[in-house]
Amino acid sequence: MVILIKIVCTLTIGCRASIVVRSQPLGLLVARVPVVEARGRRPGRLHERNNVIDPLGAGESLVKTTIAVVFDFDETLAPDTTSSFLNSFGVDVRDFWKNRAQSLIDAGWDPIPAYLYLMIKESEARPAGKRITREALSKWGPRIKLYNGVTRIFGRIEKHAQSIDAEARVEFYVISSGIGEIVRSTKIARYFTEIWASDFEYNAVEEIMFPKKVISFTDKTRYLFHISKGIIGPQSHSTPFEVNKKIPEEDFRIPFNQIIYLGDGFTDIPCFSLVRRQGGIAIGVYDQEDREKWGKAWGFVEDGRVSNLVPADYGQNSALVNSLLMAVGAIANRISLRKKTYQG
Ligand SMILES: [Mg+2]
Repeated sequence: MVILIKIVCTLTIGCRASIVVRSQPLGLLVARVPVVEARGRRPGRLHERNNVIDPLGAGESLVKTTIAVVFDFDETLAPDTTSSFLNSFGVDVRDFWKNRAQSLIDAGWDPIPAYLYLMIKESEARPAGKRITREALSKWGPRIKLYNGVTRIFGRIEKHAQSIDAEARVEFYVISSGIGEIVRSTKIARYFTEIWASDFEYNAVEEIMFPKKVISFTDKTRYLFHISKGIIGPQSHSTPFEVNKKIPEEDFRIPFNQIIYLGDGFTDIPCFSLVRRQGGIAIGVYDQEDREKWGKAWGFVEDGRVSNLVPADYGQNSALVNSLLMAVGAIANRISLRKKTYQG
């Protein structure tokens, strides 16, 4: 009888090891200690029971029961938070994007560092006391007007998943090219296990000074791997290379086919593609009020980037809520079926 012992432990302090002992050739599970990722601290909303024991040791033996719903922020959950902040600061928003940002892009800048740089220049051009500070950004967050029904969606999704399978858990994430200080202070921030967004470094008097974190196009996909591999929590922010570690797919905390990604823009295309390619669900949203952007959204459908395209309206019985509930329901059903098969 061959015994396989597998120990997963990436940190020495506060880590929990997983020990999988399997007998062969009978395929009977001999003993198992629940697998929980090794991390010093876990975010508050991580659920304890992510894995279900497979008594027969069939297949890869663990049924992962967590579903990740991942949102872009600007124009997915709320209208453009950066533009509304700039507007409140007396900046001509149209000129900022159409002329100033565009001329940097024409000169070879990546769009995300371009706008962060312009914000710093905008701030520096002002007298002390009128500059863009951490406080000004975080005070803007609670004033962000979210799309209709957004605040109620989290509870509805969780309830729906659990109505199909009591073990199913849903975690919510944000991956945004917008400004973290604003997004993290919105009234829905508490629903998210993690919020990854672009960030500034601040000077001694808390004025924006330099881009500290830039989340652009393909950077967004990096955070899908964070979610999938379970590299989350405060400590993961200071270990940027951990995400590159090779982890067998069967050990992913949340398989890609249990990830739903919602986004509206060109920066979301790599995430749409990755999620779809790996069996997850990509939902494109568009602002019904903004006709200019309809064409862009339709392009996502024509190019086969998204599984569905719906207006950014989270109201009861809206097309978006129905799509989300159907997507979550489909994954929860799959989890339930897998558990039954394993226990077969
Ligand atoms: Mg967006």
